[in-house]
Amino acid sequence: MYTLFYGTFIHTPSINEIEIRTNTLVGVDPTGRIDFIRYNYSKSDRDPVKFFFTNHTPSEPIKNFNFQDHSNNPLQFFFPGFVDTHIHASQYPNVGIGIGVPLLDWLKEYTFPTENAFKQENMEMARDVYTKVINRTLQNGTTCASYFTTIDLPTTELFSDLLIKYGQRGFVGKVCMDHNEPYPEYAESFTDCIDVQQKIINYIDQKYPKERREKLITPIITPRFAPVCSEPLLETLGMVSKSQNLPIQTHIAENLKEVELMKELFPKFENYASVYDHFSLLTNRTILAHAVHLTDKECEIISERKCSISHCPTSNTFLSSGEAPVKKYLKHNINVSLGTDLSGGFESSILSIMKHSILVSHHLAITKRHSDPKKEHKDDKLSINEVMYMATLGGAKAVGLSDMVGSFEVGKKWDAQLIDLGGKDSSMDIFEWQVPSGKVVSKEYTDKVEQLLGKWVFNGDDRNCRKVWVNGKVVIDKEVKREDEWVLV
Ligand SMILES: [Zn+2]
Repeated sequence: MYTLFYGTFIHTPSINEIEIRTNTLVGVDPTGRIDFIRYNYSKSDRDPVKFFFTNHTPSEPIKNFNFQDHSNNPLQFFFPGFVDTHIHASQYPNVGIGIGVPLLDWLKEYTFPTENAFKQENMEMARDVYTKVINRTLQNGTTCASYFTTIDLPTTELFSDLLIKYGQRGFVGKVCMDHNEPYPEYAESFTDCIDVQQKIINYIDQKYPKERREKLITPIITPRFAPVCSEPLLETLGMVSKSQNLPIQTHIAENLKEVELMKELFPKFENYASVYDHFSLLTNRTILAHAVHLTDKECEIISERKCSISHCPTSNTFLSSGEAPVKKYLKHNINVSLGTDLSGGFESSILSIMKHSILVSHHLAITKRHSDPKKEHKDDKLSINEVMYMATLGGAKAVGLSDMVGSFEVGKKWDAQLIDLGGKDSSMDIFEWQVPSGKVVSKEYTDKVEQLLGKWVFNGDDRNCRKVWVNGKVVIDKEVKREDEWVLV
């Protein structure tokens, strides 16, 4: 099926730029690739479908064609699918549980026992949890996510099957940890860890070669965090990533006690980041989650190695871990993306994480103002543009797919969501004078759209996400009515 979408398209081609394109035609070929974009095409001039067929020669002849016109509704727009760069699928049952408990105790009391239940004998429980977390995040417009599962092989294989079944683009991170002092029942030996790691890579490669090529599913090397990994394990994982060209994800400097623990466990290293760096785990395909308490020296190493940070403000607030100085990281030229960090974080929606990113950045500015009242500390505050970028193209960059997804460009894949701020199911009220009308190129028009984006970020939720596509395929459709389908003869 070739689909021609028509309507308003909004995306962030760079962190300082937001593009609002009205009356835009976007053609998506049967492989899910965007192969046609025409901006500012008024349908009052000529029928968009006729225009398309006279102005575009697709690479393959079009057999089945579908036209989706959303141009009549000023409260609807297309937006790139969200990329969640840090999420623990197995912890989903614990969302909202454990408030007030700091990280290391929280892991022992809630996280490790839950993850430890993911075993062959609990396949149905695992299926239930993994199905629900994939579906919940898809409902919220997350088209791509970088997941941690557990140390267990059969349930991690099942998780891979479910990603393919429900059509979410995903990174599968079998958790690697060869010791666990606070909860010894949940750990594996070095040999088992490396063996299971290779088995899950082989499982995905052999069972899903086509999806692997299309980067719909990718194994990701996942040392949980250095305090539960031996030096030989960290070293081997660095080598596995290099030899098999696989991305890496882990945690860094989430909590001050954890940073102290790192100093005790790795006394010969200068800092937390240099431990990972020593074992070749800091690459341009490494996602470092949290990064709340980094020193300037660590920022320099991370920037030099071109790693990305996954900012998890909801989790950092819930577990009182701290306020990550995101603007400082951006100044260091570090790519910052967003993570829900279920279940340290309680929100499955990246839209909510955008909101919390802004609020946490304001708190950072407020705290600084208390100690230095003469300054406004505006530099610490994140803008709507910035968080939109981090939720989409910044996320795509973090997972190494910025040439494929994250924005609307010819050649990229159609990983997208249709947002509707109106309608009976909307989470917000929009008044007549707030609806953009008149000349679409005017400043007044774009100002109104930008105000609506503020409403979306601060008042929106999954009810505003009406439809979701991954790789050109519809994976969520909340519209009752069927689309018109035109078959060309
Ligand atoms: Zn985490």
